[in-house]
Amino acid sequence: ADRLSNIVGQRGKVARLGGGEFQGVLGGEDDRGKLGELAGKIIKILSQPYPLDEGKRAVIGASVGIAVFPFDGDDREKINRSADLALYASKNGGRGQFRFYSSDLKDEEEVRQQLLDDLREALAQGQLSMHYQPVVSIESKAVVCLEALMRWEHPEKGMVSPAMFIPVAEETDLINPLGEWALRESCAAAAKWPETVRVAVNVSANQFVNPGFPDVVANALAATGLAPERLELELTESVFVGDTEATERTFTTLKNLGVRLALDDFGTGYSSLNHLRLMPLHRIKIDRSFIADLDGDNGAAAIVAAVLSLARDLKLETVAEGIETQAQRDWLRAHGCDGGQGYLFGRPEDAATARRLIGMRSAGTGRRH
Ligand code: C2E
Ligand code: MG
Ligand code: MG
Repeated sequence: ADRLSNIVGQRGKVARLGGGEFQGVLGGEDDRGKLGELAGKIIKILSQPYPLDEGKRAVIGASVGIAVFPFDGDDREKINRSADLALYASKNGGRGQFRFYSSDLKDEEEVRQQLLDDLREALAQGQLSMHYQPVVSIESKAVVCLEALMRWEHPEKGMVSPAMFIPVAEETDLINPLGEWALRESCAAAAKWPETVRVAVNVSANQFVNPGFPDVVANALAATGLAPERLELELTESVFVGDTEATERTFTTLKNLGVRLALDDFGTGYSSLNHLRLMPLHRIKIDRSFIADLDGDNGAAAIVAAVLSLARDLKLETVAEGIETQAQRDWLRAHGCDGGQGYLFGRPEDAATARRLIGMRSAGTGRRH
């Protein structure tokens, strides 16, 4: 607040709206060049480190949204909303930016609704597809499994990342039909692969907690004729957030069905050791962020080594995600990791390409990993 008041000085007034949000009102200034300059200065000065007690420092970023009276709103409510939308857009554009209001800015809710509408349409119109990325034995490099990853070819925006649309779908019921489609599609693809190769399908927590979920899995298997032990469901620890009794019931049903369960992104969530006991797990997948930092000095290697040793004692298989270099593979092999996934071994490919590739690279001997 002090820094802001100093920058704005006599030119206007600054007040705190709440949380870390401030509003400045500048009288008689509508020169966009000057306003932009001021916004840049605000960001720069607010982003300087703040000295704290005991020699510690805090670094706080800032984003600025600007609306100009009367063009962007001719009353208090309208101009505030315009400034708010500009701020939202500048936050979305990345840290430490300023944005002027423009009439094509939409608010968060509008963007979300649009995305959901488009996604519903995408599911109905066949714009979605599943791509498949190999999970290999770290020792022999034979493909033991393919992870199914959803792809959305948007007619205007091009490829939209699942990291962007899955979380939005997860907030609504749409994740259920989406997830059901992914399961069917993936099981149907896997039914055409060599029997030594499994398919791993990602399952959202919200999908998992749906009481009808085990039936969805059973139906996908029945419809495609895939053997249950060739299907692996990738779950994250967020499945433990809700009703634990229902969660455990679902685990039991799935276990009886004979499908395999993997814990995805291990190390990023709660990483509760208790979860490793509660789930009838086959595998844990160590998150990509740890693998990327293996050669750093921030403890990633120590953590991965400890997780591998723990998994061995618990008789859980391990897969390291995001392996991009030979050095990472060598390290993981030396530390007893079972499986690997990452660009070093293969990128996600469409169904036809993946099928062709595994014809050449799978373990043909029925060797189980
Ligand atoms: P995930 O399950 O952890 O999948 C691994 C992600 O890492 C994939 O991103 C994959 O393309 C990427 N990846 C694999 N190897 C490498 C590597 O060597 N380097 C780098 N930088 N990245 C690598 P993708 O396909 O964008 O998927 C992102 C996330 O979206 C997935 O993370 C998963 O959580 C979610 N997702 C994808 N498909 C589905 C789906 O059908 N259903 C659900 N519920 N979630 C899905
Ligand atoms: Mg996954
Ligand atoms: Mg993962």
